[in-house]
Amino acid sequence: MASSRLITDPATRGAVRLIGGPGTGKTTLLVDAAAAHIAAGVDPESVLLLCPTARSAVRTRRALSTALASHGGPAVIRQPLVRTLHSYAFAVLRLAAQRTGGPQPRLVTGTEQDGIIRELLAGDVEDGPNGAVAWPESLRPALATAGFATQLRDLLARCAERGVDGPALERIGRLNGRPEWVAAAQFARQYEHVMLLRAAAGRTAPQATVPALGAAELVGAALEAFATDPGLLAGERGRVRVLLVDDAQHLDPQAARLVRVMSAGAALTVVAGDPNQTVFGFRGAEPALLTCDDSDRVVTLTKSHRCAPAVARAVCAVASRLPGRTTGRVIDGTGEEPGFLAVRLASSAHAEAALIADELRRAHLVDNMPWAQMAVIVRSLPHAAAVLPRALAAAGIPVRTPAPGGGPADHPAVRSLLIALTAAAEGLNGEKALTLITGPIGRIDPVSLRGLRRSLRRGNDSEKPRELADLLVDALTGEGRTHPTVYAAALCRVRAVLGAAAQLADEDPRHALWQAWSRSGLQRRWLHATTRGGIIAAQADRDLDAVTALFDIADDYVAHTPRATARGLVEAVTNRSLPSPDREPPIEPDAVAVVSAHAALGREWDLVVIAGLQEGLWPNTVPRGGVLATQKLVDVLDGVADAASPRAPVLVDERRLLVSALGRARRRVLITAVDNDDVAVPSVFVDELRRLAEDSGAPTVPADAPRVLTPAALVGRLRAVVCSPDGAVAEGIRRCAATQLARLAAAGVPGADPASWYGMTAVSTDRPLLDHGPVTLSPSTLAMIADCPLRWLLERHGGADGYELRAALGSVLHTLIAADGNTEVQLIDQLENIWNALPFDSQWYSRNELARHRAMLSAFCRWRAQTRHEFTGVGTEVDVDGVLSSPHRDLPDVRVRGRIDRLERDGSGRLVVVDVKTGKQPVSKDDAQRHAQLAMYQLAVAAGLVPTGAQPGGGRLVYLGKPGTAERDQDALTPDAEREWRQAVHRAAAAAAGPEFLARVNDGCGHCPVRSCCPAREPGS
Ligand code: SF4
Repeated sequence: MASSRLITDPATRGAVRLIGGPGTGKTTLLVDAAAAHIAAGVDPESVLLLCPTARSAVRTRRALSTALASHGGPAVIRQPLVRTLHSYAFAVLRLAAQRTGGPQPRLVTGTEQDGIIRELLAGDVEDGPNGAVAWPESLRPALATAGFATQLRDLLARCAERGVDGPALERIGRLNGRPEWVAAAQFARQYEHVMLLRAAAGRTAPQATVPALGAAELVGAALEAFATDPGLLAGERGRVRVLLVDDAQHLDPQAARLVRVMSAGAALTVVAGDPNQTVFGFRGAEPALLTCDDSDRVVTLTKSHRCAPAVARAVCAVASRLPGRTTGRVIDGTGEEPGFLAVRLASSAHAEAALIADELRRAHLVDNMPWAQMAVIVRSLPHAAAVLPRALAAAGIPVRTPAPGGGPADHPAVRSLLIALTAAAEGLNGEKALTLITGPIGRIDPVSLRGLRRSLRRGNDSEKPRELADLLVDALTGEGRTHPTVYAAALCRVRAVLGAAAQLADEDPRHALWQAWSRSGLQRRWLHATTRGGIIAAQADRDLDAVTALFDIADDYVAHTPRATARGLVEAVTNRSLPSPDREPPIEPDAVAVVSAHAALGREWDLVVIAGLQEGLWPNTVPRGGVLATQKLVDVLDGVADAASPRAPVLVDERRLLVSALGRARRRVLITAVDNDDVAVPSVFVDELRRLAEDSGAPTVPADAPRVLTPAALVGRLRAVVCSPDGAVAEGIRRCAATQLARLAAAGVPGADPASWYGMTAVSTDRPLLDHGPVTLSPSTLAMIADCPLRWLLERHGGADGYELRAALGSVLHTLIAADGNTEVQLIDQLENIWNALPFDSQWYSRNELARHRAMLSAFCRWRAQTRHEFTGVGTEVDVDGVLSSPHRDLPDVRVRGRIDRLERDGSGRLVVVDVKTGKQPVSKDDAQRHAQLAMYQLAVAAGLVPTGAQPGGGRLVYLGKPGTAERDQDALTPDAEREWRQAVHRAAAAAAGPEFLARVNDGCGHCPVRSCCPAREPGS
C-alpha cells in the first residue's frame, strides 16, 4: 500500500490507483498533484485532469486555479488542464480534422439526438410494417412516443460505448432471439446514414450542416481517430505526460479504453475513484479501471475530511454489505462534532413532509445553519415533486429544485413565444390564440376567460353566435373591436407580442424571438418577482431559466443551420423532449436543495435528509432498460450469465446510490420513510440504518405530522394557550405564552398582536343602519329578512354575486310576458331575436335554455288563455310604492316598493296578485298560504297602494317551468291574517334597521352565498 505523498511527488512515474470513500480527498489530491507537478517545472500543457461531468470540471478548475495561484503558477496556458472526458475526445476529433483538412466535428446534444430519432421513428410509423425497419408488432404503438425515442437513444449509446455497430447488434439480436434488438440495429444503420448524409452535405453544400456526433459516439470516434492516424496518437501521447482521472467509477468501457490508450504514453497516470459509488451502471459505467487486478500501485484513502464520525459509520455499514471485496469501504469520520444519524417514520406522505420541514426549520432557526447547507435527497425527483417542495415552501423554507422534466417547449412562456413565431409565419388560429391569452403573456385565468367570452360576444355584430376562439383571433389580429378595459390590457399585450414577431418574420429567427420576448414584459415582471423571495421568486427563477435555455437553443440552431427560419427553430425546440441541462448558478442561492440521488453526486451539505426510502422506490428493483431490454443487452455484451437474477445487480446499484447519498453529508443525516400498511412500507435500508441511528431506541410507531416550527403554527399554539378557558391551563403557563406572543408581536410576526384577532376589535358604531323615516322593504325580500336578517344585510351590501345569468334570464322572460296581448308566435320570435345577446358560456347550455324558455312562453300563453273565464287583466308589471304605518310605536313604518307581475280582477271584483315563477320546483300548497311576498302585496292592495282597487282577492303563484304549468294559491287575507302579516312586516323592518343582525340558521343555509363568513355555521361546514 502506498502513501498519498506518492501522488503529489513530482518524481513518481507509472500508474497509480487512488481509491477512497466519500470525502476522503481524492479530487483534492489530484488537484494538488497537478499543481505540484507544474510547480516542479512540468509544462502545464502536459498535465490533463479528466472529470466525469461539466459541473465537476468547473469546480475542479476553480480549485486548480487557486492551487496554481498559491504556487505562483503560470500566467498563460493554451490547453485546458481540466476537462471532461467527452470534451477531451471532442478536442481530439478537432485536431484530427485540422490534420486532414476536413470539416470540424459537431456535437449533437442528447435532446437534439432525440429530435432526429423521433423524426426517423415518425417515418417508420408512416411506412408501417413494410418500412425499412422491422419493428415487432408489439412495439409499433410505442414508436411515436417520446419515451421510446429516449430508450432507443440509450440503447444505441450503450452499443456505441461498447463499440458494437449495427451489424454486430443485429447478429446479437438474432442469436438471442430478440427481434427488438434486430430492429434497433436496422434503425441504427438508418440513423448512421442520415448522420453521414448530413456530414457529407456539410462538405459540399454551404447550407448543410457539419458532421455531428452524439456524446456516446465521441469517445469511440476519438479512439478511431487515434487508430487511423498514428501521428495524432503520438502527438497526444507526447503532449500529455501527467494524466489524472477523477471519479473513474463513472467511466464506460470505451472511455476506460481511451484512458488506457493515453496512459500508455504518459509518465504518470493516476486513476481516482470509489468503486462503491458506481451508480451509473444503467448508463454503462463500470469501475474496471479501479478494480483491475494488475501491478498498479494503489493508494487507499480512509480518512473522510467531509463526514463526521456518525455519518462515516453509516456510510461504512451500508457499503460493507456490497458484494465482493473492493477497497475503499472503510472511512473514518473527522471533525469537532460527532455527527448525527436519525431515522424517522411517518404515517403519511404529508406527515413525512412536515417532519422534514420541522427538522430543516429547527436546524436553521436553532442551530443557525444556512439554508444552502441543507439538502433533501430523493430517489426519484418526479415522484417527490408532487408533495415535498411544495410542503417545504409552504413552511417558509426557500427551496431550489431542478427544472421539471419535459422538453423546453413544455414551458408555458416558451410555448407562447414559439406560438408568436409560428403565427408570424403561418397566421393565428383559434387554438393558438387561446393558448396565448391564457399563457404567461395574456395571463387570463379560466374565470376571467368567461368574462372575456361574454365581452367579446357582446361586441360581436354577426348574427350567428361565434366560438370564443374565433372571436379571439379577430380581437388579436386587429379585425375585432375595442374591448372593455378590464380585458384590454391582456389583449394588448398579446397583440404587441404578435406584432413584434411579425415585423421581423423574414429575418434571423433570433431577432423575432427577442422582439417578442421584449414586448411581452415578462422579463421585468419576473426579475421583479425574483427579489420577493419564497415560492414566487423560485418560480420566476425557473421561468427565466426556461427562456434563457430557449435563447441558447435558438443560438445553437442558427449557428448550425444556414438559412435558419422561424419555423425551423420552432421545430427544433418542439422536437426536444428532454429538459435543458441544469446550469450551475453563478452564486449558489441560500435555499435548500431538493435533488435526486444522482444529481447530488459531487456535492456536499451539512445536513442531508434522505427521504422516501420506501419499498419499491429505493431500492428500485424494476429491471432497467424498458421495452427494448437495454440492461439485458448490456448484460449480454458484458458476458453476464443468463441464470443471474436480474434483480441482484440492480439491488447492488441501489445500495451504492445510498452509499453515495449518505456520503454527501458533513454533519447530520436524517432518514425518513412513510410506514402505512395501506399506502407505503419502509424499505430494507430503513431497518439497516435504524440499527445505526443515534436514537435507535426511539419508538418505532410512525409519527403523525408534527407541528412545524413556523411563525403561523407557533402563534396559533400560543394563542390557543392564552385564550383557553379558565382553569384549562395553569396561569403561569398562560402568562408565559402571553409573554412570548408579545415578543412575536413586537417583532412584527403576523397574527401575534391581539389587535388583529377576530372579534377583538371594537365595534365601530352601535347606531342602527336606518335610524329615521320608514324602512323600505320589497315584498320579495321580506321572506329573506324573516328567515335570516344577517344574510339579507350581507347580500344587500355586496355579499351576493353581482351578476347571475339565471337572474338575467328571469328578467327576459318577465319582460316578454309583461307586454300583454302578444301571441305565442310573437313572444317566441322576440325571445329568439334577443337570445344571442345573452352571455352564455357554452353553446349546449344556451340551446337547452332556449328550448326551456320557448316551452315556458307557450305554457304562459296557455295559462293566460285558460284563466280568462276566471280573471280579467288589470295590469302587468304594476308598480307598488307607499307607506304602511306601524300599528305599534316601537316598530318602524314600512315603505313598500315592488312590482306585481300581473294584477287580475276576479269574478267578485277583487284584485288578485299573480306572481310568475320560472323555477322548476313549486312550493307546497301550505307554503303558498304562508308566502310572504304574495301576502305583502295583498297588504299593499288592502292599504290602497295600487290605484285600481283596495280589496285583495288572494294571490297566485304560476310556475311555468313545470310541464303543464303548476299553480299555487293564497287565500284572500282575512282581517286576522292581515293583522298578523302587518305585525310580521313591521317586525321584519325593525330587524332590517339594525344595529344588530341575527344569523338565524334555516333551510336555505345550504345555498347561502355568505355562509363562508357566517358566525352561526361550524367552521368548515
Ligand atoms: S348561513 Fe344561514 S344563518 Fe348564516 S347567514 Fe346564511 S342564511 Fe343566515
